[in-house]
Amino acid sequence: MNHIPDTVNLSRMHPVGEPDKPILRLEAIRKKFGEHVVLDDVNISLKSGEVVAIIGPSGSGKSTLLRCVNMLGPATSGRVVIGDLVIDEAVPPTAQQLTQLRRSVGMVFQSFNLFPHMSVLRNVSLPQERVLGRSRKDANKRSLELLARVGLEDKADQYPARCSGGQQQRIAIARALALEPQIMLFDEPTSALDPELGLEVLAVMQELARSGMTMLVVTHEMNFAETVSDRVIIMADGKIIEEGASREVIRNPTSDRAKRFLKAVK
Ligand code: ADP
Ligand code: MG
Repeated sequence: MNHIPDTVNLSRMHPVGEPDKPILRLEAIRKKFGEHVVLDDVNISLKSGEVVAIIGPSGSGKSTLLRCVNMLGPATSGRVVIGDLVIDEAVPPTAQQLTQLRRSVGMVFQSFNLFPHMSVLRNVSLPQERVLGRSRKDANKRSLELLARVGLEDKADQYPARCSGGQQQRIAIARALALEPQIMLFDEPTSALDPELGLEVLAVMQELARSGMTMLVVTHEMNFAETVSDRVIIMADGKIIEEGASREVIRNPTSDRAKRFLKAVK
């Protein structure tokens, strides 16, 4: 009998590769700004399809860490490994490595960073032409599919300024997805939004997580961290102070530092 339990997700759209092999590894990441140690030996490994939330007090190094992953602000030392791409943070990446990185890793920021002088469709299409060499026609077709996926097909011809913050953030997600990344990084994607607009962005992220995308999400949304992510990492003072299954970490933190932080945000 061919019984498929209903917990099996049949709609995984992203290639899962070898199931237990990490798709992203951050190894011994250290970063100093002058004498100030901002990241102190951070190690994180993500399996394909895993969704990991990073939480922690302001100034704990969460944004700095994401910026090391995509080399927007390389670390002082450590390695980032994405499939066969191995980046030594202490050495400037080659142009080829940067291109491979830009294709593999999509990033969504707190501020949406859309091009204000281009239509929504153009915002999503242009990077595909530039980075993937897609024709305008193919890029537009893919853009419309992705805008539909984030519920914004009807905004294709608008300018970003005519869209709400929640819509702009969903466009930014579509734009990142258009490059067919293996991993998506999010840095507090809802913190600039009113709560109800944040919810529509979180719904898109939840759908993305369900579809099998590998995601590393810095967030202050405890509900998202607990219910959507597989694992939670708590950072403080540049270190991982606690990590584990989401519910366990959020409900039963062990360290005093984590307890204090969670008490403050709940
Ligand atoms: P989080 O995202 O967890 O709030 P950040 O990664 O933004 O924390 O910052 C971590 C620490 O690094 C903070 O103490 C911050 O002041 C410092 N920092 C971040 N960017 C810079 C910079 N460009 N120059 C100097 N210090 C910085
Ligand atoms: Mg930050």
